[in-house]
Amino acid sequence: MVYESSRSGSVGRASSATAVVRGIAPDGGLYTPVEVPILADSVLRDAVGQSYVERGYRVLRPFFDDFADDVLRTSICSAYGADRFDSPKVAPLSPLTENEAILELWHGPTSAFKDIALQLLPHLMSEATDMIGEKRDILILVATSGDTGKAALEGFRDVPSTRVVVLYPSLGVSPIQRLQMVTQQGSNVNVLAVSGDFDDAQSGVKRLFADPGFNNELASLGFVCSSANSINWGRLAPQIAYYFSAYCDAVSSGALKYGERINFVVPSGNFGNILAAYYAMRMGVPVHRLICAANANNVLSDFIRTGTYDRRRVLHRTTSPSMDILVSSNLERLLFEVSCHDHELICSLMTRLSETGWYSIGADLLRTLTSVFWAGWCDERTVTETIRDVYTNHGYVIDPHTAVGQAVYEQYVLESEDDTYTVLVSTASPFKFAGTVVAAIEGSDVATSRSDTEMLDMLSELTGLPVPAALANVLQLPQRHLDVIDPAEIGQAVRSCLSLP
Ligand SMILES: *Cc1c(COP(=O)(O)O)cnc(C)c1O
Repeated sequence: MVYESSRSGSVGRASSATAVVRGIAPDGGLYTPVEVPILADSVLRDAVGQSYVERGYRVLRPFFDDFADDVLRTSICSAYGADRFDSPKVAPLSPLTENEAILELWHGPTSAFKDIALQLLPHLMSEATDMIGEKRDILILVATSGDTGKAALEGFRDVPSTRVVVLYPSLGVSPIQRLQMVTQQGSNVNVLAVSGDFDDAQSGVKRLFADPGFNNELASLGFVCSSANSINWGRLAPQIAYYFSAYCDAVSSGALKYGERINFVVPSGNFGNILAAYYAMRMGVPVHRLICAANANNVLSDFIRTGTYDRRRVLHRTTSPSMDILVSSNLERLLFEVSCHDHELICSLMTRLSETGWYSIGADLLRTLTSVFWAGWCDERTVTETIRDVYTNHGYVIDPHTAVGQAVYEQYVLESEDDTYTVLVSTASPFKFAGTVVAAIEGSDVATSRSDTEMLDMLSELTGLPVPAALANVLQLPQRHLDVIDPAEIGQAVRSCLSLP
């Protein structure tokens, strides 16, 4: 498969190996496959009886057709082994009602959906580096709204010839998310808190990527920069597999007949996860609607409803911090796809966004988009009520991000009366946001009087699940990474991480 930049079209074409190693195209655009492979009907039909690894291989094969077959297969096998995921199904589907199921994407080592891609990406990256003859070490620079950082640290820790530097917003992550990162072990990792919000961290990282001086300096230190954010195709592609897998599981459980259509509801921030659902649809999964759920930072849902993307607003801190984002990078890929790869249009929209803070798309493009996408958002009170109601009515505990999805799905059903079978994508384990979840179910006074350990234990009782070992562990581990920096100091701080022995 050949990839092209969303900003320069065919001029900047690259192989999948190059796209993975570079992370972002030299012109600042996002690498996008020149065409979306369509899976034969028999592939989908056969996959119904297959394992997650087998399904993943079917989906990823056409995107990484320059990789040796056995390498790809072995990589997928090791990424999703029993030592990494605590469910043999990797991404199990758990029925909530006759018409709705929850896709649990948090069975990996850091209890968030980012693990599914970030357990595989290091394998793809190592192989791709060899394939293109890149001799320098890879610097993975990550701006995180909470979960990507930890999942990247865990995925890349002690991977030879790689170095990871994670930047997270100092006040924008949950206490457990923060502890997960500051206690990170490994000899090739650094974690820095940036005073500011996620967009400050993300734009700082994007500036460094685009800075020729910084890249030259890196080269002289023997490094080349890459990304583990969903701007990297190697991060996005593995996410397509779980939509394919969820469809197969819905069919094999009897909830859907083969060929019947499905809706997915996706709690969204940077738009990577729901974009993977869109690619799954283009590849042949019978999708009726993709429902994009936003929290109080409703820039995405406003865009899908009106065609105007306007980031000129204050960022709200919510209980779903991984969605507290005003600039959704992957929307660029979607617009590139729905405009049939019109890179001139993308360039002008992205220039407008960076210069004026907003852009509008035409009515035709919006119509194409809304023939598949539906969007809504919910406020903080609704998140709390939804966590409580889902627990009361179904005995199932969801985290605040998943609750945003459920609340928006309920709005969608009221508005559309659509009774299509729907899968709600659960993006994080409730244990990761124990304080918010316990407060929603047991009352805020109960939550404030308990320690983190006590809250994890309470959740264990409510869910009937053991506390994920890695999360219990972060309360004991030494805190190794406590630096807080100003957004203006990001470049300098990254330099000094690299000069350390
Ligand atoms: C990253 C994340 C999201 C947002 O996903 P995008 O791909 O950025 O849209 C939602 N929920 C959780 C828990 C996350 O970690």
